[in-house]
Amino acid sequence: MTRDFSVRFWGVRGSTPTPGEDTLRYGGETTALEIRAGERLILIDCGSGARRFGQQLMAESLRSFDLLFTHTHLDHICGLPFFSPAYDKNFQIRCWAGHFPEPSGLQNVISRIMSPPIFPVAADTLNAVTFKEFKAGGALALGDDVSVRSIKLNHPGGACGYRVDFEGRALAVITDHEHGDAAIDAAIAAFVQGVDVMVYDSMYTDEELPRYIGWGHSTWQEATRLARRADVARPVLFHHDPCRTDDQLDVIGAAARGEHAGALVARQGMVLTL
Ligand SMILES: [Zn+2]
Ligand SMILES: [Zn+2]
Repeated sequence: MTRDFSVRFWGVRGSTPTPGEDTLRYGGETTALEIRAGERLILIDCGSGARRFGQQLMAESLRSFDLLFTHTHLDHICGLPFFSPAYDKNFQIRCWAGHFPEPSGLQNVISRIMSPPIFPVAADTLNAVTFKEFKAGGALALGDDVSVRSIKLNHPGGACGYRVDFEGRALAVITDHEHGDAAIDAAIAAFVQGVDVMVYDSMYTDEELPRYIGWGHSTWQEATRLARRADVARPVLFHHDPCRTDDQLDVIGAAARGEHAGALVARQGMVLTL
């Protein structure tokens, strides 16, 4: 019997939360991915979308899980101060980051955003949280039943991609990342080879990208090209530009399916079963 392996999208937006009438269908919360692999929970990023997930978790019996940060730009961490389980000493939340050149980078960042006058509650009230750091590029020791590997991405200040393998199925999360560095791109293609689902930074279009070189993001066209090159079954366009409306994402989704039949536009609330 195969055990459950799924990903739920609690936030799909990049840069900043974007509530409003133009983003109702795809959602305006920033990045948070709930991955369930058997009994195990892995949360990737703690953007604004994580707040509602935290409320759901409080009602579950599960009390121990891993939170993997792709990096610590605000859109990926801004949900942590509003993530109820993090304050509850009955939980154990191991928070991982692999993009810092110096040790204690993750704890320092969280302590900075959770200190007056930025935020009234200090980081030392996060009773459930332990901070764990690693260098992007290796495996993470989460336990025997699941394999989690990491890879360095091309992003200002660094970022870390993840691949989760579980009982013969695989999911990759590649955000935030700007393609164009041949060595990094080749390493990513090998890293995501053959995965069932690849969540990919599709902030821009190929036509827009020249205006944003150096901003650290990729395009939906690159998502489909990479998926074809690396034999990915379902490229999922993710980290939508805050200016992108639902109608524009419909158009992008149709165009992406023309390039790769398995392409999907990430939508808040969407669940994919691997
Ligand atoms: Zn981002
Ligand atoms: Zn970023």
